[in-house]
Amino acid sequence: MFEGQTSILWFRRDLRLHDNQALAAAIASGPVVCLYVIDDRLLSGSFASPNREWFLRESLAELSESIRSRGGVLVVRRGRPEVILPAIANEFGAGSVFVSRDYAPFGRERDARVAEALAEMGVQFCESPGVLAIEPEQVVNPAGHGFGVFSAFFRRWVLLERPPVIPAPDEVAAPPGIAPGSELERWQPSRPPADLIAPGEMAARSRLESFTSGDIARYAVERDMVDIEGTSRLSQDLRWGLLSPNEVLAQSRGPGSAKFEQEVAWRDFYAHLAWHAPRVLRETYRRDMASLPWHDDPGGLAAWQHGCTGFPIVDASMRQLVATGWMHNRGRMVVASFLTKNLFIDYREGERFFMCHLADGDVAVNNGGWQWTASTGTDAQPYFRVFNPVLQGQKFDPRGEFVRRWLPELAHVPPKYVHSPWTMPLAVQSQAHCLIGQHYPEPIIDPAGGVPRAKAFFEAGITKT
Ligand code: FAD
Repeated sequence: MFEGQTSILWFRRDLRLHDNQALAAAIASGPVVCLYVIDDRLLSGSFASPNREWFLRESLAELSESIRSRGGVLVVRRGRPEVILPAIANEFGAGSVFVSRDYAPFGRERDARVAEALAEMGVQFCESPGVLAIEPEQVVNPAGHGFGVFSAFFRRWVLLERPPVIPAPDEVAAPPGIAPGSELERWQPSRPPADLIAPGEMAARSRLESFTSGDIARYAVERDMVDIEGTSRLSQDLRWGLLSPNEVLAQSRGPGSAKFEQEVAWRDFYAHLAWHAPRVLRETYRRDMASLPWHDDPGGLAAWQHGCTGFPIVDASMRQLVATGWMHNRGRMVVASFLTKNLFIDYREGERFFMCHLADGDVAVNNGGWQWTASTGTDAQPYFRVFNPVLQGQKFDPRGEFVRRWLPELAHVPPKYVHSPWTMPLAVQSQAHCLIGQHYPEPIIDPAGGVPRAKAFFEAGITKT
């Protein structure tokens, strides 16, 4: 690397100017070509998501503006990175390409191909941390393996030092003759079906500021309640790197911060797992659960997807997901448990549906959450632990406000019945304008006997060694 030589900053999951180590390294080396490559393989396929595509497009538009206001240019191209990066390096005589390191199998393979193509031209591929709080190599057991249990992982993770947060640069100098091209303008994904949270680094920073200066104090007690906004709502910001996990953690202080830090550590835990054991993204982490007799039940799957199972907390959470591209963590656990342990539908169906809707959809974290709930993963829930949707509703939405918000058909159902509307006497159903089977579905499974059914399912399918 030569002082003053042009370099490329290739943005991927770090769409920010603040606390961006790769960007700082590129700026320190000379003029910078800021680049984003639209890779259609990531936008299509079985995890394609109009919500994420729109959120990404809008966040990039803002990033482009922020770079422009600092004297730089965001070049956007569409195609295969292993073709585009060498071409741009050639065009601008760049000596290095800087990136924030990617960890999931797709990104790792892509980066290996890009690095190889660049090496052939004598261009360096320089990776910096910035997507995770702690690097996977730093959290290993004495044998050098990643952890399969969160508590052991966290004990090491929490002791590791993180680098200081670096401010956004005042200036991003571009090489002469650079033009953004019109790929970003041409890329106009249709308005997504969901009403998404505001995209872009500025909105993310204001969410961080508002959470860390207020709600975090109540986070430990309120984070599980689905009826209040007790969580940070930063997941899509971390997913797209509008915020660095390092800065998020550095800003989180005082009451609530220890619990919050632990949740952010779960994100690292699943990313590390996918790095150390990428097979989890294709198969059950627990090998003895590779052949569970999942049910083929298109009717049950459709009822779950459309929020028509007859169990209000499940249905309200699913409608929240489709309407907003986000679901509360408690809701995610409840609906995942319902799909896998009440309907016995393969967790991969739910994993895919989530990925198609979540603005924060992240292959490693989503897979981790699904496998945890289905009991096939690390740290797994015991398979006989089934979230009872009625009790979960009563505990985490005691007044029924959350379910009424998403299921207007339950608006007049008295609190006593709101999480088990099928128990309403007929006269109460009439009074509440909610006839079960007409205005709101009958429960699609027998509300009783969930645990013994799950036990029988898993015990029949676990491979005995
Ligand atoms: P907060 O409670 O404020 O947490 C702060 C941050 O910590 C989050 O933004 C997130 O980055 C991280 N975090 C919180 N809980 C978890 C967790 N259980 N596992 C890993 N990281 C966590 N999160 C995603 O970001 N993307 C996903 O695709 C995703 N899929 C999930 C699927 C299932 C079945 C389950 C059970 C959980 C999933 N989660 C996923 C984790 C969690 O539900 C969301 O991160 C959280 O609800 C986001 O809301 P928040 O930012 O307000 O969270």
